Amino acid sequence: MAFELPALRYSFDALEPIIDAATVEIHYTKHHATYLKNLNTALEKYPEFFEWSLEKILCNIDQIPEDIRTAVRNNGGGVYNHNIYWASMAPGQSGKPVGKLAEKIEDTFGNFMNFRTEFEKAGLGRFGSGYAWLSTNHEKQLIVHSTANQDTPLQEHLVPLLVVDVWEHAYYLKYQNRRAEYLSNWWTLVNWEESEKRYLAAR
Ligand code: MN
Repeated sequence: MAFELPALRYSFDALEPIIDAATVEIHYTKHHATYLKNLNTALEKYPEFFEWSLEKILCNIDQIPEDIRTAVRNNGGGVYNHNIYWASMAPGQSGKPVGKLAEKIEDTFGNFMNFRTEFEKAGLGRFGSGYAWLSTNHEKQLIVHSTANQDTPLQEHLVPLLVVDVWEHAYYLKYQNRRAEYLSNWWTLVNWEESEKRYLAAR
């Protein structure tokens, strides 16, 4: 069974005015869908890996045959990262973390604004293309970090809770070169219920 594109949980215009409908549509139906198509094409040569989960493939990338490894790393990572990115957002959000994750953010960073500043810094500091993340490590501590290109937190043995895409394709139509403005506006879209679910599962 080939990998499939998870359905978007909202309409293309649902994230307006923070992210415009054209950006969401192109990002999902072209960028995300192309990573998926390329991942499936690469794996066709070794269909036994269709039995694996995407997480298992990315965590054990050294077990993927060398001739398709780079394609699987880049396109599999592209699929995985976008799956989490779309789920990290939803319309009509409160803008505030909830539950156990909210408590852990306070414990770790002192307060939400400190966390927010650190997260935005990770996104702004990512030279070129990539992502800013909130993840947990082996010790169940919260980590703010960034990844390049389509690398994933899984390769660093981290469990992702929240992600923002800082590739230019994620914001260029509306924000052009203003990545900082995209990042500071983005918080009102964050689906904290989803991050709380991921955090509880990771514990
Ligand atoms: Mn993207």
